[in-house]
Amino acid sequence: MDSEEIDVLVIGAGPSGTVAASIVNQAGYSVRIVEKMMFPRFVIGESLLPRCMEALDAAGFVPALEAQGFQKKFGAKFVKDEQIADFDFSNKFSTGWDWTWQVPRADFDNLLATEVRKMGVPVDFETEVTDIEFFGTDSITKVVGPTGQERNVKARFIIDASGYGRVIPRLFKLDRPSNLPGRKTLFAHFEDPKRYTFDEPDRITIISHEGEVWAWVIPFSNGYTSVGFVGNPEFFDQFEGSVSEQLRQIIKTNAFTNRRFADSAFVMEPRLLEGWSVTTDRFFGDGFVLTGNVTEFLDPIFSSGVTLATVSGHRAAQLVCQQLAGGPVDWQQDYVAPTMQGVNTFRSYVMGWYNGTLQDIIYAANPDPEIKRQICSVLAGYVWDLENPYVKHHARVLGSLAKLVRMEAANAGQ
Ligand code: FAD
Repeated sequence: MDSEEIDVLVIGAGPSGTVAASIVNQAGYSVRIVEKMMFPRFVIGESLLPRCMEALDAAGFVPALEAQGFQKKFGAKFVKDEQIADFDFSNKFSTGWDWTWQVPRADFDNLLATEVRKMGVPVDFETEVTDIEFFGTDSITKVVGPTGQERNVKARFIIDASGYGRVIPRLFKLDRPSNLPGRKTLFAHFEDPKRYTFDEPDRITIISHEGEVWAWVIPFSNGYTSVGFVGNPEFFDQFEGSVSEQLRQIIKTNAFTNRRFADSAFVMEPRLLEGWSVTTDRFFGDGFVLTGNVTEFLDPIFSSGVTLATVSGHRAAQLVCQQLAGGPVDWQQDYVAPTMQGVNTFRSYVMGWYNGTLQDIIYAANPDPEIKRQICSVLAGYVWDLENPYVKHHARVLGSLAKLVRMEAANAGQ
């Protein structure tokens, strides 16, 4: 069996893996990515947040992304019947990037993988990790290539960025259920000829549909738009037929999506996904670290996935280089704590969205402008800015603000 030795093996060529590999490569260590699929490949997660631009920039990807002409995104718009709440990222509280992109992920991820290869990082496509054995911090990983041939990769460190593949948690039985209830989504890409009549393309639109059910509308620069409904599985049970027929019926039950997409053709076969929230017992161990979706994926409502993936990939790669250089690394304090700071801030907002607290705040008739700036920062992904009280005290501020907003609404007779 073929065998090779490198400093760092990265599993997965999604945004987390390519950012991590670029940072390791910049530090002068040998690094290789193994990727199960052939690219371009479809993955969901199309609306980015401005905070991820810092990580993409550190990895050297921004010029190539700029040249690609992806749809620029400057904010998030929430729509509930006739109510509209617009968050413009240039009004956010935290300093940093105030725009990002909305991307068909097949093209975006393919570009990142192409760029990282140009930087000198080998990417083995159609190469799947099937087994890993650790010897202290060193490891031997068994991979199977496109023609079924097996080979071993010896590495001093592994960065597991395998997303929904969850390679190390699965191999070492570290998976644990999330504390969020299982949800389901039906989505597709549509032609969008009515785009300029009903909406601006430079934002994600999030529609509060009914109860816990909401929809995303994400326009791309190619003229197509991604539309998906998310909710409890029971909501979807009332619609019959194929996945396409169900999505067609659901589109008609909402005034916004009916007006804009009832007559629009699908440009991809609609898809169904469910039960994506999962976490793991540990984010690191001797000779490995987990990044991106492998750590914890919460919920799509605030488009946090790629931001958490790129920021954790960036941070993990810096720490891996520090350790390989012989420096001390306190993985719990330097990696797990900041990662969980971001995840837990988003968790409070996700829970607040589904229990209605955050929706009352978002749709308040007269929002306090400073508080709106602070919440806007979270929506832009600045969940590590502890100067922001809506980050620092995320677990309790939303509840007290919602009470105030509800009292004001009651006093105003709404
Ligand atoms: P991935 O992008 O999943 O990449 C991991 C790679 O690892 C894959 O290419 C895979 O083929 C490879 N791999 C897996 N197993 C193996 C193996 N055994 N060997 C080798 N390679 C392997 N996020 C956003 O930011 N914005 C959104 O609008 C958004 N919307 C979403 C909507 C829904 C319904 C869902 C479920 C998620 C959404 N997300 C969104 C989240 C987003 O999909 C993920 O957070 C993001 O893709 C994570 O990136 P990653 O690099 O960690 O993993």
